[in-house]
Amino acid sequence: PLTIEVDDLLVRHGERRPALNGVSLTLTPGRRVAVVGPSGAGKSTLLSALMRTVEIESGTIRLNGTDVRRLSSDDVRALVTGLTQDPYVFQATVADNLRLAGPQASTEEVEAAVRRARLDAWTERTGWDTVLGEDGRTVSGGQLQRLALARALLYDPPVLLLDEPAEALDEETADLLMADLLDATRGRTTVLVTHRLHGLEQVDEIVVLEGGRVTQRGTHADLVAVP
Ligand code: ADP
Ligand code: ADP
Repeated sequence: PLTIEVDDLLVRHGERRPALNGVSLTLTPGRRVAVVGPSGAGKSTLLSALMRTVEIESGTIRLNGTDVRRLSSDDVRALVTGLTQDPYVFQATVADNLRLAGPQASTEEVEAAVRRARLDAWTERTGWDTVLGEDGRTVSGGQLQRLALARALLYDPPVLLLDEPAEALDEETADLLMADLLDATRGRTTVLVTHRLHGLEQVDEIVVLEGGRVTQRGTHADLVAVP
């Protein structure tokens, strides 16, 4: 279990105005926070800071009390797993894409991950063997995100970062995917980046970023109640 404390973060890309300016948030084990905001708000920069792939100008990020600047990228990678908008799929079957990820994942573990990531609706419709035997690169957008999540879950990462998983999908597919991702990540420390408030009833906290600053925070009910 991992606690993340982001305190008064300032990140600047080159000479530009800060991409993040005074951003703070706390993630305790099992808590899920959604970071919501328009394009350019600083959402990706925040994820990059959490993954330690961008310099922090001031403020701190602590993982279980240790400043990320004192951790190597390998240390950070062992703690934080990020899912990108465009998950990488090997030129291999779905089954091999899953097995390559899990360090010696057993068939039972692969099947459990498939169920948790709600790929089972697909395996039931198409047949387990057909799905597992399909070329990973032919998988559709929504299933690709579920596949990437199943693969990530095989590592049992202390923290999951989800970067606009529904970005490339139409609204209906996006809603279904988000509902599945939120079911699958229940009880798992998660930062979910998205530009839509819709469907976020389940998350513990929503942080609204605009122009690098936190402009609102609260539960979904708090935020939709704002006039
Ligand atoms: P998103 O809104 O999905 O994060 P962006 O367009 O903000 O997509 O960013 C896509 C990529 O381009 C990211 O890697 C980001 O760091 C980079 N990027 C965004 N804005 C700039 C910029 N002004 N100059 C250079 N790189 C940028
Ligand atoms: P979001 O993910 O919310 O779309 P980003 O974190 O990608 O926002 O971008 C925040 C701001 O930082 C934007 O003004 C963007 O253009 C700028 N930016 C992001 N990445 C880079 C980069 N690599 N170089 C220069 N500017 C960047």
